[in-house]
Amino acid sequence: MIVASSDPLLTNSAQQAVGERWVLKVSSDAAQVAALYRVGPAVIVMDDSVLSEHDRSDVLRKVRMRSPQSSLIYVAAEHSDEYERWARAIGVNYYTSKPIETARFVSVLTSFLEHRAGERGSSTSPLAEPEGMKAFVMTELNHVAFLDKPIPEAGPNDAVIKTTRALICTSDSHTVRGAIGPRSNLTLGHEAVGIVHKVGAEVKLFKPGDRVVVGAITPDWGDPASQAGHPSQSGAALGGWKFANTKDGVFAQYFHVNDADANMALIPETVSDDHAVYCCDMMSTGFMAAENADIPIGGTVAVFALGPVGLMAVAGAKLRGAAVVIGVESVPARQELARRYGADFIVDHSSTDPVKRVMEITDHNGVDAAIEALGANETFQDAIRVTKPGGVISNVGYHGHGGFVNIPRVEWGVGMAEKTIRTGLCPGGRLRMRRLLQLLERKRIDPTPMTTHRFSFGEIERAFSIMDHKLDGIIKPLITFN
Ligand SMILES: [Zn+2]
Repeated sequence: MIVASSDPLLTNSAQQAVGERWVLKVSSDAAQVAALYRVGPAVIVMDDSVLSEHDRSDVLRKVRMRSPQSSLIYVAAEHSDEYERWARAIGVNYYTSKPIETARFVSVLTSFLEHRAGERGSSTSPLAEPEGMKAFVMTELNHVAFLDKPIPEAGPNDAVIKTTRALICTSDSHTVRGAIGPRSNLTLGHEAVGIVHKVGAEVKLFKPGDRVVVGAITPDWGDPASQAGHPSQSGAALGGWKFANTKDGVFAQYFHVNDADANMALIPETVSDDHAVYCCDMMSTGFMAAENADIPIGGTVAVFALGPVGLMAVAGAKLRGAAVVIGVESVPARQELARRYGADFIVDHSSTDPVKRVMEITDHNGVDAAIEALGANETFQDAIRVTKPGGVISNVGYHGHGGFVNIPRVEWGVGMAEKTIRTGLCPGGRLRMRRLLQLLERKRIDPTPMTTHRFSFGEIERAFSIMDHKLDGIIKPLITFN
């Protein structure tokens, strides 16, 4: 990052954004910046207080010409519409004016840096397009490895994305263990954001270079199930789940997206990749659990298991207006995070009977809604037990084992207590992703405290093993690509 400014607020913000990952150069002589730096992809911040009025246009044009691949950020001393139009006409990528709100400015700078870093890696030479890529695959049941694969091609409605961030999910482990049957050399992963590498001729809303989030679930929107309002079930039960199921997933340097216009969303410039990647699955699924639970404002909710989906269900329940949220979990770090996301009570099922405790907390009324976020027969039954007559049991757990999931007959009101069981698979789609991104943009939620570990793509095997065995207090491991 190059900063032309003598304002300590700006240079300190730049320093914060750069951290230890990038290099910062500061100069108070804007003309020197324009003259000296003929740089590749960089982020250049120009403070207009170091520009004199008569050569302002000249300097800016020079910077734009010499560093066409750089992102240019312009900070006006005070705002005027005319000034903003002038800056944008010259090719400024981001215009803002003083006074600067530091936290917001740092996050803008960070997202520009990450965007640039992603683009810089998009091809090693401007002349030669890379042909192959590394992918992290399930070679067969219980075995994973790196494999060289060709970069996918985009059909007319498709896109190919260059991956910048991905999250490992517990369901990736389920898959390797055989929950959906055997697979051969299937690329794993379904939670990723990236930069558009290629689009098909029919794609209208996206172009190469766009920073996008892709839903973990990528339905066929023309399918009757989608048209009936169940896109996650397009084609077949769970048919919207394609990544690392019926096609290669996202743990690769590039990945393919069907129905690109419908399945991707542009990431706003103030939202970082590290945040946006939580939209793919964790926020979408956890919030769906709360939406399906039909929580009345001021209602009571119990969430069984506080992994990342359970944590987002807690946050979702709060956003939906629950007055009392009870989390059932034994791991202290998860309990702690649940409190942060709004849990009012934590029930430790390892030391107390969770049904008894939830009934005590609710004065023996039971909860309006219970969310099952584990995928175990026992917690599913407990969810039915604690739900009051007329209430909703919202299942998001992935029941990956056994032949049956049982319903406790008596607590189910022998089939007549008007308890509704709802199930769902992570919703995908541009509208859904766009709404989730708006929550991030407006800072209604911060999912990043769930990122307990970070690994480069080259280290993904180790990350996978730690996640698989739930070692080291792991909640979500973030994989970074370059
Ligand atoms: Zn997932």
